[in-house]
Amino acid sequence: MIPVAILEILKSIVGKGWVLTDEADLAAYAFDGFCMEFTPDAVVLPQNTAEVSAILRIANREKINIVPRGAGTNLSGTSVARRGGMVMPLSRMDRILEIDGPNRCAVVQPGVVNADLQKALEPYGLMYGPDPSSWYVSTIGGNISLNAAGPRALKYGSSREHLLGLEVVKADGTVIKIGSKTSKNAAGYDLPHLFCGAEGTLGIITEATVRIIPLPEAERTIQAVYANLDDACATVSKIIAAGITPSAMDLLDQTLIDLIQGYGGVEFPEGATAFLLIETDGHPATVKDEVGKIVNICNAYNAIDIQVARTPEENEIIWRARRSIGGVFSKVCKTMINEDATVPVASLPAIMKTVLKLRDKHKLNVGIMAHAGDGNLHPAIMTDASNKEEMQRVDDFAEDLYRETLKLGGSLSGEHGIGLAKKQFVSMQFTNEALLMMRQIKELFDPNNILNPGGYIDETT
Ligand SMILES: Cc1cc2nc3c(=O)[nH]c(=O)nc-3n(C[C@H](O)[C@H](O)[C@H](O)COP(=O)(O)OP(=O)(O)OC[C@H]3O[C@@H](n4cnc5c(N)ncnc54)[C@H](O)[C@@H]3O)c2cc1C
Repeated sequence: MIPVAILEILKSIVGKGWVLTDEADLAAYAFDGFCMEFTPDAVVLPQNTAEVSAILRIANREKINIVPRGAGTNLSGTSVARRGGMVMPLSRMDRILEIDGPNRCAVVQPGVVNADLQKALEPYGLMYGPDPSSWYVSTIGGNISLNAAGPRALKYGSSREHLLGLEVVKADGTVIKIGSKTSKNAAGYDLPHLFCGAEGTLGIITEATVRIIPLPEAERTIQAVYANLDDACATVSKIIAAGITPSAMDLLDQTLIDLIQGYGGVEFPEGATAFLLIETDGHPATVKDEVGKIVNICNAYNAIDIQVARTPEENEIIWRARRSIGGVFSKVCKTMINEDATVPVASLPAIMKTVLKLRDKHKLNVGIMAHAGDGNLHPAIMTDASNKEEMQRVDDFAEDLYRETLKLGGSLSGEHGIGLAKKQFVSMQFTNEALLMMRQIKELFDPNNILNPGGYIDETT
């Protein structure tokens, strides 16, 4: 519980209406996309850096936990009050401060929604590379803190590759500015990138300077359908080996194809067991050339149906199949758990086979969506969180999956972070020395461990 006297001080900082303690208000912040419930003691919504700093000074002095929060869409359990204390949504800090076209960067507050930034950049012929599927709601602060990415990470990179500088408030309330607007920067330790994947444990991001890039002149989307999953995986490897870098190369397996068949007009031919969505963008002549090469490779690997969109509307129809997935799970299961195993891209066929084997071993309903060109797999486990016995099998599946992923030289996460979801597996990926180093960094920024405690970095858990 937070003492009343402290709540009064917080109200004097942000205004009475911006400190929430009613049960119904707290319940609204008790969940994120991982669906484990942690009700905070209070929710405090600052409007500017000075308020964030003042709140942190009090919290640090009183040793009250603070969980920074964007839109709460993360899938790993990292924006809930796992150890009590207050949740601090940055949603009131949602201004785009500057679009600096000549220097190819934008300066934004952390609560700016990704899609709003994209929309604001469009009239300038510019875009922001990271495109998580949650972009209509998720925020730049949350994206950076989890190093979020999307289909076009294959060509343009994740949030990390677009981060140039930050304004951050440390746990003791000190405001620091790190990085710069320059596209090159070789001065000193690379502090801004420490915050990519820090999951809100090192400081509160109050401003971000991000790289922006020109909108491609042309783009074409290709849909290739296969009767054999191995052929689809081989197509991916061949495209990469041929030196082509599509702007997206996503794969769906048969379970997901069957789920979305007919949904919103999506249709796959009979016998479809794998679907590849491949997008290429850039100069029109390059795009034309790449489309030809990609189609040849798809044919060489026995695609049973290939469609190349000729118009933006046809592009959209192909993307609809891919985007339909989020909407169909609620029709077929109570709980969907989205894993995030990532392997070196040449190991894609091996990890796909492993997932199918583990699905049968643990008798679970699992569909696979993959950002295939990045070796980033999202096995979607369709389950029911209230079924304890089944949830044990889900846990066993995840443990086996990540063990095999790491054996292939992979990582526990490509874009969703560790959070509570994979905290128990961290020592499988990191040595004790590496974990100790991370804890020492954490201690330097936040000696009282008030910033989002209860995550993978805590020694005590
Ligand atoms: C339908 C759906 C689709 C998704 N698709 C993708 C996808 O394609 N790719 C992908 O990468 N992810 C995806 N996600 C996961 C999620 O949207 C991303 O992880 C996103 O980056 C979270 O942003 P958020 O604003 O919701 O942050 P939150 O979930 O609120 O917070 C995420 C983390 O950031 C920290 N944080 C937030 N703001 C700050 C700040 N200002 N300073 C310091 N720390 C902060 C929080 O403490 C927490 O640790 C998806 C989620 C859903 C529900």
